[in-house]
Amino acid sequence: EAARDVLDQARERGATRLGVEAMPLLDAYGIPTPAGEVVDSPVDALAVAERLGDPVVMKIVSPDILHKSDIGGVKVGVPHEEVYDAFEDLITRARNYQPDATILGVQIQEMVETESGVETIVGTNRDPQFGPLVLFGLGGVFVEVMEDTALRLAPLAESEAEAMLDEIQAAPLLSGARGRDPVDRAAVAETLARLSQLVTDFPAILELDVNPLVARPDGVLAVDLRLTLD
Ligand code: ADP
Ligand code: MG
Repeated sequence: EAARDVLDQARERGATRLGVEAMPLLDAYGIPTPAGEVVDSPVDALAVAERLGDPVVMKIVSPDILHKSDIGGVKVGVPHEEVYDAFEDLITRARNYQPDATILGVQIQEMVETESGVETIVGTNRDPQFGPLVLFGLGGVFVEVMEDTALRLAPLAESEAEAMLDEIQAAPLLSGARGRDPVDRAAVAETLARLSQLVTDFPAILELDVNPLVARPDGVLAVDLRLTLD
């Protein structure tokens, strides 16, 4: 099974913190992700970019860098002619931040249209008493500043997941506030349910965050991932 392979390989390298390189875990559970690949040279970066479209998104991939944007480790809208320079720049930034950082490479990712969507977070952690918990809220800085989140025990039925969407104060944003189209609520609920199944199936996953899960009228896309293994 693909999900088990990702976790076994991480364990073999002794990794306990995984990032976007573990995206196949989400694919294995039917959670939609943008096309992307981790590469370790500028030449490969361009080859992948040429497959994915123009422009692309480029992200540093390192277990020592948890918040990539904080060090300028995410470049959105990179045109093909800038892919080489962007690759070198991402590596330089990571090295400047932490000279001995483990760098797995650079992820080349498809651009996601976020304008029509809402950036949400779906996450999980483990309560010593109650077991796996699933969290839903607005993504990005909002989740940290507002603490506007809904929590449930995993595993989660889709109907329970859908109730979580209405629980947050920002719920109107999801149903089309300010003349926007409502997001695909069923797809968000399905993602919460699938994620709750993933962490139920793999007790070794202590914590997992998809931030952002871009929720759009036409579905969802998990754009970023980080998780901790025990
Ligand atoms: P981190 O959370 O480690 O800083 P992310 O991968 O979440 O890195 O990227 C930061 C932000 O960049 C996201 O919240 C999103 O707004 C934007 N972004 C990331 N990937 C994409 C993408 N593929 N398409 C469009 N925007 C993206
Ligand atoms: Mg993120």
